[in-house]
Amino acid sequence: MPRKPSRKTIVKKLDAIFSKYVRLKDADFKGNCICVTCGRSYYWKEIQAGHFISRKHYSTRWDERNVKPQCYSCNVMRYGEQYKYSKYLGIELSEDLLNLSYKIVKFSNSELMEMTLTYNKLVQELEMSYI
Ligand SMILES: [Zn+2]
Repeated sequence: MPRKPSRKTIVKKLDAIFSKYVRLKDADFKGNCICVTCGRSYYWKEIQAGHFISRKHYSTRWDERNVKPQCYSCNVMRYGEQYKYSKYLGIELSEDLLNLSYKIVKFSNSELMEMTLTYNKLVQELEMSYI
């Protein structure tokens, strides 16, 4: 019998496929994405999925409005450039996401696995157009 995956593994898998989806979704026909906070272009494998509201808030962790392609320099070296990020999103959406982030949302393991499957399918569809 295969062991049931741990919560940590489930979250990690969803994070990975969701990140891939965020980058592929916004890539152009060559597979390049624009960093939302500095405007530089990178191949989707060389850019990250940056969160406007930190990943520690589960209510916005997998919200597509909250996660966009962002380069390593902006996301890691410059701590996400939250001010520039909010200018990119606009004040209304920034505030909506901020308010949503205060909500406590508890996803069950099966909900997270369901989301993983959904994003897996979406990524497979997107990948066909780049490879
Ligand atoms: Zn950048």
